[in-house]
Amino acid sequence: MATLFDQIINREIPAEIVFEDDQVLAFNDINPQAPTHVLVIPKKPIATLNDITEDDLELVGRLHLTAARIARERGIAEEGYRLVMNCNEYGGQTVFHIHLHLMGGRRFTWPAG
Ligand code: 5GP
Repeated sequence: MATLFDQIINREIPAEIVFEDDQVLAFNDINPQAPTHVLVIPKKPIATLNDITEDDLELVGRLHLTAARIARERGIAEEGYRLVMNCNEYGGQTVFHIHLHLMGGRRFTWPAG
């Protein structure tokens, strides 16, 4: 099922895009929870982490590599940041197209709430 992230990929709704290649798109979260809050998504529609397969291993690695690169570009790599992928209801997932939250620019607590 198409999600609003498909609409962002297809430029049907606007987003502040910070990186794009043939497989990955990254854009600022509309409701940032930190000074840097970027969503890194595959262009391939995969609903949840439960749906990834062996075929997606390289793609999932690419999401992480992209996030780490953006963190370096933003100057937050050394101080640290948080990557989160929520899965389904208990994980707090609201958009069913997998995405890494890259959050940084402030200190985070642990355990997560
Ligand atoms: P989830 O809760 O699924 O892990 O994260 C979904 C994220 O998408 C939320 O952080 C939310 O703020 C963000 N979001 C929802 N709608 C939009 C939108 O239209 N544009 C952008 N840029 N982010 C969105």
